Amino acid sequence: MKEHSDVLAGGKRNILVADDEFINRELLENILSDEYDVLKAEDGEMAYEMIRQNRNTLSLILLDLIMPKMTGLELLSRISDEPDLKGIPVIVLTSDHDSEVESLRNGAYDFIPKPYPQPDVIKARVSRSIELAENRQIISATERDELTGLYTIEYFYRYGSQFDKYYPNAEMDALCFDVNHFHVLNERFGTEKGDEILKHIAERLETVFADKASFVCRKTADTFLVYCSHRDHDEYAKIVDQIAEIGEDLHTSLKMRVGVYSCCDKKLDIHLRFGRAKIASDKIRNNYTVSVSDFDEALIDAELFAEQLVEEFPKALEEKQFLVYFQPKFDIRGDKPVLSSAEALVRWIHPSLGMISPGAFIPLFEGDGLIAKLDEYVWRRTAEKIADWKARLGISVPVSVNLSRADLYDPELVDTMEKITRESGISRDDLYLEVTESAYVSDSSQMVDRVKALREHGFFIEMDDFGSGYSSLNMISELPIDALKLDMKFIRTAFEKKNDTRMISIVIDIADYLKVPVIAEGVETEEQYLELKRLGCAIIQGYYFSKPVPADEFERFLNDKKEGKG
Ligand code: C2E
Ligand code: CA
Ligand code: CA
Repeated sequence: MKEHSDVLAGGKRNILVADDEFINRELLENILSDEYDVLKAEDGEMAYEMIRQNRNTLSLILLDLIMPKMTGLELLSRISDEPDLKGIPVIVLTSDHDSEVESLRNGAYDFIPKPYPQPDVIKARVSRSIELAENRQIISATERDELTGLYTIEYFYRYGSQFDKYYPNAEMDALCFDVNHFHVLNERFGTEKGDEILKHIAERLETVFADKASFVCRKTADTFLVYCSHRDHDEYAKIVDQIAEIGEDLHTSLKMRVGVYSCCDKKLDIHLRFGRAKIASDKIRNNYTVSVSDFDEALIDAELFAEQLVEEFPKALEEKQFLVYFQPKFDIRGDKPVLSSAEALVRWIHPSLGMISPGAFIPLFEGDGLIAKLDEYVWRRTAEKIADWKARLGISVPVSVNLSRADLYDPELVDTMEKITRESGISRDDLYLEVTESAYVSDSSQMVDRVKALREHGFFIEMDDFGSGYSSLNMISELPIDALKLDMKFIRTAFEKKNDTRMISIVIDIADYLKVPVIAEGVETEEQYLELKRLGCAIIQGYYFSKPVPADEFERFLNDKKEGKG
């Protein structure tokens, strides 16, 4: 907008005179044409058309209130209703004192009484209004987010606080809307399409929260904040669904979530209220079934806990507080289950908090770039353990380690893996790699190429958590994989819901088609084991056989295998 007024500074500004009386139009043109280019309209409708056509260059409108086809007041309210017109200042021309007040109330900047005063007075009022409007536009350039036209965060907080001052008793909700895995959309379709999606979301939010007691802003890339009068949980669920419909229109799948800090405590600083909404939203970041998350106080502790863990990570790594546990996988295709491999799972043995499960810290570290360090550490310890077993026990099984999305971005990954196997003296088929399905899908080409490279170097690739997401069937056949690992939740629901194992059968069919084995994890009962065996699942892992155990305990399984006991 600033640029816009700079361009105008060179030439003459445009002014529209809307008056049905010929003589008035001529008079005003005469007075103003030295300094301005004057456009003329002789009725309300014509004026409206000209305003729309010249909306980007018009600096001012001089508006007669009594005109045929559309009165000046009607036109005024139309202008103030249309976002791209309402910034154009209007000076009302009138002989009636009452209408002056009314038109000022309706958004007019100023008025010029009829009969007209001295030309200098008219000129002064005109130039003052233009100046005012242009200053206001400069201010509003920082008031608005460039991409979406929503308030920027500073103005959003300012208007929200102002509202609180005037309506201290209104029950208000602080909302934080996020797009689930927006980076995936960006990577997949490009940022241009990503921007388009964000604009649509902004529009939809403005429509939904159009009332006077609602404020909408874009906080960062794909995070939107709304401050509005209290609504109930179900209503928010509907709103989120409504917004997600944008995805259908744009032929992408779009999932949004909202964190709600309901009837918020106004004694809290406004940005803290939205901090709470954000905490609530982040809680369901990886939950595909829930889209509305209500804040409760316990979440604050969780947040502080998370900060503590991230802070302590470097020291913990140095002090070797991370241990690798092993969980056996059994081949169930024969008469008797046979130990076939294992999965390495990290544990944090914290000096004061005790054992922390990876579910609590892996997602944090993934967001913080710490995961790469931890993973490399786990791979190395695992490789060394395999070498140790071989040397001491004369037996070992392949052990799979987990790879995060972040690892796949690392151009050195293949070198690192090779270095680890070489330095610990194991071969490449001793170390299997588990890559989650969502990592594959997030950025098709780059991720897939990297996994391909690993596979070409002789590493065995298991697709982890299959069935939880995203990949389409025609994509799967292109992916470099040696085994499909069924997502645990997937098995859980299959057996909970009246033994409906049809989906498992379908996945096994897909695996057959790809000529790779299916690994089922999270198998806890004999019933599940037998059913999976019947369905043709090759390998199972789960508490039914063993929880993940420390390295020395795992040796029991190796010794049993050595003695031919399983
Ligand atoms: P995952 O790779 O899907 O690992 C399987 C998880 O299921 C493990 O949880 C395991 O302990 C658990 N599990 C195995 N059998 C059963 C069962 O019968 N019932 C139940 N309820 N659970 C079972 P864990 O060890 O807590 O790991 C959670 C997740 O953390 C892993 O999921 C993996 O995504 C991640 N993770 C663990 N270690 C590492 C690591 O070293 N690096 C990376 N990047 N991620 C890791
Ligand atoms: Ca895994
Ligand atoms: Ca898994």
